[in-house]
Amino acid sequence: MKFLLARGASVLVSASALVLGGCGADGPVVWPISGATDGDFPLSSTFGPRVRTDDDVYDFHRGIDIAVPEGTDIYSIAAGVVSEIQEDTSAGGMLVKVDHGSYYSTYVHCSEVDVDVGDRVDAGEFIAESGKASNGFAHLHFEIRKPGDNKKDCVHPLDVLPYTDKGAPTLEIGKVDMTTPLQPKVTVTARVGAGELDLRSVSVATYEADAAAILEGLVPLSERTYDIETWNRTYTSSESDVVIDDPNNEGILVRPQKYNNTMPAQEIDFTFTGLVGTVTSGMLRVRAVAVDVKGNKISVESQ
Ligand SMILES: [Zn+2]
Repeated sequence: MKFLLARGASVLVSASALVLGGCGADGPVVWPISGATDGDFPLSSTFGPRVRTDDDVYDFHRGIDIAVPEGTDIYSIAAGVVSEIQEDTSAGGMLVKVDHGSYYSTYVHCSEVDVDVGDRVDAGEFIAESGKASNGFAHLHFEIRKPGDNKKDCVHPLDVLPYTDKGAPTLEIGKVDMTTPLQPKVTVTARVGAGELDLRSVSVATYEADAAAILEGLVPLSERTYDIETWNRTYTSSESDVVIDDPNNEGILVRPQKYNNTMPAQEIDFTFTGLVGTVTSGMLRVRAVAVDVKGNKISVESQ
């Protein structure tokens, strides 16, 4: 507990953060950075498919990035036991992992770690200082792993962190490519607004029905879903990131718009193939659904 005495400000911050924070199954939950509390999170990158800001490369991001200067205090988000500390030679900096009972939180690119493995920590307790990634970008990379502590167990951190939900994503059916009517390609664009970044899944279903038919209750010809957490669990292998980092994996082409901490909205185009169409284009109807972390749902239909 020596660091608490040396860090009076941290104790004050954690006390106010406890008031602002949510309450999970294992007790109160706060943000890992002071000020980045409910409704105020300067994320430079969110969970899921992304185009990296530094090099334009597509990859799958298993956490959220909070852009903060090196040396910023990092707090445990909830009560738990420090289960792992290691130098992360490829990503840069130190990794700290805390076991919260039913899930783990990890704090990556730390410049200094002020706890030891086995230490008990409380929600809002100072554990480390932020650093920078090996590419030079100063930020905290933060993950929630549930129920295990492997990369494939990473889930959307907004599942656990408190935040102000602003409602359902928006969704648009773009192109329905009927070059081969029995095998249409459908592009949809899902968006969440500034400060939201909580998209969970996008799915597309095809139906054989005329323009006047009500699709609700009809059996689709085919349906495909890109669920971000399921995708991570299915395609993360402990040996290689090659499969999950392919933007055209399993015939679902994922094209995220690049985003950063001055434009924290999220927009992703998905082009689904592997769908079943109809012999004539006039009888093909398409329905797309997007769901966010809070379960808000939007569905749109083509005519
Ligand atoms: Zn990151």
